[in-house]
Parts: sequence; C-alpha cells; structure tokens
Amino acid sequence: MPTFRAPRGTRDLLAGERRAFARLEELASGLAARYGYRELETPLFEQAAVFERGIGEVTDVVEKELFRLASRTEEGEVWALRPEATAGIVRAYIQHGMHTQPQPVKVSLTGPMFRYDRPQAGRYRQFWQWDVEAIGDPGPAVDAEIIELGVRFYRDAGLADVRVLLNSIGDPACRPAYVETLREHYRPAIGRLPGIERERLESNPLRLLDSKDPAMAALNASAPRIVDRLCDACAAHFAAVRGHLDALGIAYRLQPGLVRGLDYYTRTAFEYYREGAEGQQQALGGGGRYDGLVELLGGKPTPGIGFALGLDRVVLALEANGGAGPVEPEVTAVVVGADPLETVLRLVVATELRAAGIAARAELGQRKLGKQLESAARDRAHFAVIIGDEYADGQVQLRDLPAGTQKTVARADLQREISRAHAAHRHGGPA
Ligand code: AMP
Repeated sequence: MPTFRAPRGTRDLLAGERRAFARLEELASGLAARYGYRELETPLFEQAAVFERGIGEVTDVVEKELFRLASRTEEGEVWALRPEATAGIVRAYIQHGMHTQPQPVKVSLTGPMFRYDRPQAGRYRQFWQWDVEAIGDPGPAVDAEIIELGVRFYRDAGLADVRVLLNSIGDPACRPAYVETLREHYRPAIGRLPGIERERLESNPLRLLDSKDPAMAALNASAPRIVDRLCDACAAHFAAVRGHLDALGIAYRLQPGLVRGLDYYTRTAFEYYREGAEGQQQALGGGGRYDGLVELLGGKPTPGIGFALGLDRVVLALEANGGAGPVEPEVTAVVVGADPLETVLRLVVATELRAAGIAARAELGQRKLGKQLESAARDRAHFAVIIGDEYADGQVQLRDLPAGTQKTVARADLQREISRAHAAHRHGGPA
C-alpha cells in the first residue's frame, strides 16, 4: 500500500482519461463559441454565503455536501469550494455590472466542482462540469436554444441515446399554492415518511417529489402535478418552450416529478438521461431557469437560464460504449541515432522539429539503434529520423514506420518532408 492516496471520492485522471476529458472540453468550447456563449472563469471557492443564499439552505448541496474551508478569521470570511457554477457566475454578473452589457449575457465555463457526496461510480467529491448560462433573457426561445445545445453536445460527444426530461415548476405567483397542495397530499402519510422527508415536508416539500427513497414511490406517483396548476403566464411560457423544441425537432418527455434539487429554479426545468436510465439517480446533466437568483444575490431582478453537464458521467458512458474515441499517436517523429552514445545531435534535431511545430521526441537513452527503433514503433510514431554517418554531409535517414520505407533526406528539407508526408498520411492520401 502506498503511504498516500488521492482523497476518497477523488481520482487522478491519468493520460488516457485526461485526454478523454480534454476532448469533451474542446467540444464544449467549440460549441460555446458556435452558439455565442463566451468562456469565463470564476474562483474555485467563494464566500460560503454565495452558495447558501444562491442554492438555498434546505438543499443537499448546502446542508450536507458543501466543502467549507476552515475560516481565516483575519479576513473575517467563510469560504466554500464551489459545488456548482451558477451561483458564482451570477455573483460575477452582479459584481462586474454585466447588466449594462447587451442582454442576455451568454457565458460558458468548464471546470471542477466539489461536493461532499457519498462516493460511488459516477458520483465523486471532485467532478467536472460544463456550464452555460444566458442571463437577462426571460425566454421562451432561449430555453429551447440551451436545451438543444445540450443535446448537440451529447450527440457530438458520441452519445446518441440521450433523452430530455422536461417540466415547468412555476414561479412565485403559482408555486406557493401548489406547494401547499403538495403538503396537504403528504400530510396524512406523515407517519410513513422517512425522517429526512418528514423534515422537508415543512421546509421544502418540492424536494419530496424527487426523493429516490422507494418508500416514497407510491405517494409521489399520486402527487398533484405542478404543470396542472401553473398560472397563465407560466403555462404560456411552458407551451412556448415546447413549441420551440418541437420546431427544432428535439424530443422530450414531460416529467412532473422533475423539480431539481436547487431552490432558485423557476419555470423551465430539464434533465438529460441516457435512454433506459431515466428517473434513476444518475442524470448526465440538467438545468433550468432561475429568474429569482440575480435579485437574491443582490442584483436587480433579472431572468436567467442555464445548464450543467457532468463530464465524468459522459466519459463513463463513452467507456461503457467501448472507448472514448480513437487513441491518436502523440508523437509524429522520433529521432534516433546509429551511435548509441551520441545524444547531442538527436536532441538538436528533435528540438528543431518541435520548433517547426512537429510533435517529435528524441531517444535520449544511450542504447542500441534497434532498441531505439522498437521504442519509436511502440509509440506508433509515423517517422523515425535516423542520425548516422551521412549527417556529416548534411543528410539523415527518414524511415516511414507504418509503410516500412526509408529514404535519405537533406537535413534542410527534413521539416518540410515530414510535414508534407504526415499531412498526406492523416488524410489517407499517398505519402
Ligand atoms: P446538478 O448541479 O446536481 O444538477 O448536477 C449536474 C450534473 O453534474 C449531473 O447531472 C452530473 O452529471 C454532474 N454531477 C453532479 N454531482 C456529481 C458528482 N458528485 N459526481 C459526478 N458528477 C456529478
């Protein structure tokens, strides 16, 4: 056993897995640019109050899962690691007066989030999300734009079987009456409710609806549905969101129990699941509208909507599908030497190739040429550049490893030759 291990619920992303994450980050970044969402970064920690207020005190994320940092009394602030991105982004929107920019402000952020969750497959204490937000637009069109963007991400990532679950959870005009109806529904069964649900009946009864406790299943199935009790404005908004989704050809399933764990959501709420895994604990991603959040954090009343897609679960799903994409060779050329002891020229030539933008490494160990070539083949390099006696005449041998051919190339032409042949090789043409 090693003396130290990564903390429980965290893991090291080793080269292959890091590459899979990088691909998803590149995909997210490309889509964000294409859809007009600009990337920003917020700190990995904030004042704990940003999350307590912005997410809600009576949520798992704040009650149980917030990683609070030991307070540094000299600054008089209590911090917590961010469990999600929205609250921090909204804090930044207010702090930087982004309401004076053209609305909506559309932003995108990819990075690690932290929750003191019970670790299991697909549930970690440090995990990665791609988050987008459109702040300052009441919808309904932008709601559909964002939902479609998530579907596009999954499709382009290689998950074709992702489904959208959709609900509207009303707003402060219609939700309070619904919440009271919900309390009345559960109250007669209070003796049968699991302890935590009993507490939530008073503090946040919406949370009972998305309880995964089997004891709640029958009660939840017969619970009144908020979509039947929306006020006229919320009902019109919801119908319009669905109309836009229909026009985009985005299929969705209405899910009356989808209330999201976070208090600040209004109206549109959605989640992404893999086909057949709907309603289980492991959503791939989710989001919704939060028209009350900016004001709650001290800004002017401003509508907003966004999503957070968990990247870890996408990587897991891709692995379960047989791999997270082809493994591309990381090196194009390996510079080897006929003289086992001579490493200066190898390093010089490799450095020149790298300066010219070619992925190259030199064999820096002092071993025989045959061993050096074996290692180049193991790396699945396209070329071995062999430095031998002809180097004195300004020439090297260029071996095309997959083709098994070799020719003499003037050192001055080496970069051009490799770039040309490698580009042709990647595009399937003649080398
Ligand atoms: P949430 O902010 O809870 O709606 O989460 C949005 C997405 O982030 C989820 O659908 C998951 O894909 C991912 N996620 C949330 N919590 C975790 C976790 N503890 N470990 C891994 N992924 C998570």
